Amino acid sequence: MLYVGKAQSLRARVRSYLGAGGDGRLQVPALIERAVDVDAVVTPSVKDALLLENELIKRHKPPFNVRLRDDKQYLALRLDPREAWPRLVPVRRFRDDGALYFGPYTSSQAMREAVSNLRRIFPLRSCSEAGFRDYQRRGRPCLEFEMKRCQAPCVGRIDAASYAELVEGTTLFLRGRSAELADDLRARMDAAAAGERFEEAAKLRDRIAAVERTVERQQIVTPKAIDQDVFGLARQGGEAEMSVLHVREGRVVGAASHAFADVRLDDGEVVSSFLGQYYGGDEPRLVPAEVVAPLPLDDDGALEALLRERAGRRVAVRAPKRGGARELVTMAEANAALALARRIEARESVDAAAGELAERLGLAAPPRRIECYDVSNLNGVLPVASRVAFEDGKPRKADYRRYRIRQATGGDDLACLREVLTRRLARVEKEPLPDLLMVDGGKGQLAVAVAALADAGLSAPAIGLAKERDEASPSLRVKRSGGLKAERVFLPGRKDPLLLSPSSRGLLLLQRVRDESHRFAIEFQRALRQRVHLTSILQEIPGIGPGKRRALLQRFGSLRGVREATGEALAETPGLSAKDADTIFRFFDAQRAAEAAAPAEPVAGDASTAEPG
Ligand code: SF4
Repeated sequence: MLYVGKAQSLRARVRSYLGAGGDGRLQVPALIERAVDVDAVVTPSVKDALLLENELIKRHKPPFNVRLRDDKQYLALRLDPREAWPRLVPVRRFRDDGALYFGPYTSSQAMREAVSNLRRIFPLRSCSEAGFRDYQRRGRPCLEFEMKRCQAPCVGRIDAASYAELVEGTTLFLRGRSAELADDLRARMDAAAAGERFEEAAKLRDRIAAVERTVERQQIVTPKAIDQDVFGLARQGGEAEMSVLHVREGRVVGAASHAFADVRLDDGEVVSSFLGQYYGGDEPRLVPAEVVAPLPLDDDGALEALLRERAGRRVAVRAPKRGGARELVTMAEANAALALARRIEARESVDAAAGELAERLGLAAPPRRIECYDVSNLNGVLPVASRVAFEDGKPRKADYRRYRIRQATGGDDLACLREVLTRRLARVEKEPLPDLLMVDGGKGQLAVAVAALADAGLSAPAIGLAKERDEASPSLRVKRSGGLKAERVFLPGRKDPLLLSPSSRGLLLLQRVRDESHRFAIEFQRALRQRVHLTSILQEIPGIGPGKRRALLQRFGSLRGVREATGEALAETPGLSAKDADTIFRFFDAQRAAEAAAPAEPVAGDASTAEPG
């Protein structure tokens, strides 16, 4: 299937393609050259035609259509007023579940900033349900209370009515109804002052000032307090970029860009097809009151009909020629142009990096896909490994994998790596080999990779990337990110490593891949440690069988006691050797150090999955 389109009059549409010289659209000559047949499906309405067009584009990926790969993280804040003590929760998906959603936000940083500013004004709780219950049981609030970022409903420091006012304020603020909010706060301040509740009045005064300060910082782009999504298109050769500005109550609250390569459609088709997929895809979206397009859509009202159905109200779709809305389109176009320029620049730099790697590593072609493997364990316990994949210089998170080591012994990094590579290479039919297989480490790790490839009867370029000290002292590996020593690239069959200049684009690319792999392995290790119960952790320590575990529990009373015991105390446990005591002590000590260094909340895993099977 080359191309999917829709039209009220197919005759006119097809004739426009086939008529003398076509209709001048960019795609026509190439499309006509390859087309052998035209097929048509009748749908009950233009809206259904749009949905079917989306479905067919998704299913058949026709080369002449633009295809929205909505891999953008959709960041929004969710507040469920039905909860006893509602809170703002960052989410990556909007659902029609009766909760309130605010956003979308451009980046998680922008969202965090918004939440942090807001919680200074309206200090809603930030804890999870489990956290809430935990502090409730303990009868004391968490640090958020000390930092004046929560009024501690967990221990009854705020009553339900006052908390509901905070929720109401948060909602009005996030809806952009700041004038209404300020009026409301002012009325409450006056009432508090009249009732001689001066402390409360002063708090409300500060809150009004904070709201006004925050609102001042947000740029007003239209005097109409209206919700709009404004789109802009930029093109350069076959590259296209669509930008969207999310305007809420007259203020730009977020923006995003979507990139398309090898586009052969004219502007009208790009915009129309994009918008159809943007609002008509499986991903639910917050539908604004108005959609502002950069040019008129030749879709017979299909998009409007679809939006009306999705939003349950009328949604205007327009393409203004002048006035404030046109200025917004110009702004969206400028954003699109900037994103496009950056993308082209980044690609040129990735191309240069890959080209340099091909030359220096002696590869047949610049490596488009690079996979990197890393092993992580905590003093030999809970060994895990990670695989990250980069394509065209960008992480491909859907292809990240986490491995639990099943056979190799924890402390033996090389055996762990061997196991993981063997498992990965066994899946080569489902997952073709990368253009470059990289292992985190030096000669030893590379030898393992080469042997694993040979055992599997496969061949692929493989390298090891190691910092100088990794080789000299493996125990210092954990401090790798300090980056004081040069990086060394190990190549099969070559005795001495290759030294790439620290400013080499190729080396920077390799480092990024390796560091990501390292981060991903450690993150998994940490998550696993938190999941595995202490009992099971004892079972994971090599050399500590059931008899020794029983002896430990008898001596220290509980697992917590074992964890907190000193090395000397452990060594006095009957049946335990000094080596056992040392292993246990070092394990828990490393665990404590890792916990102290870890962020309070574990970073949630990326779009990764455990290895299937
Ligand atoms: S003070 Fe209580 S309610 Fe507030 S964030 Fe902490 S635990 Fe949650």
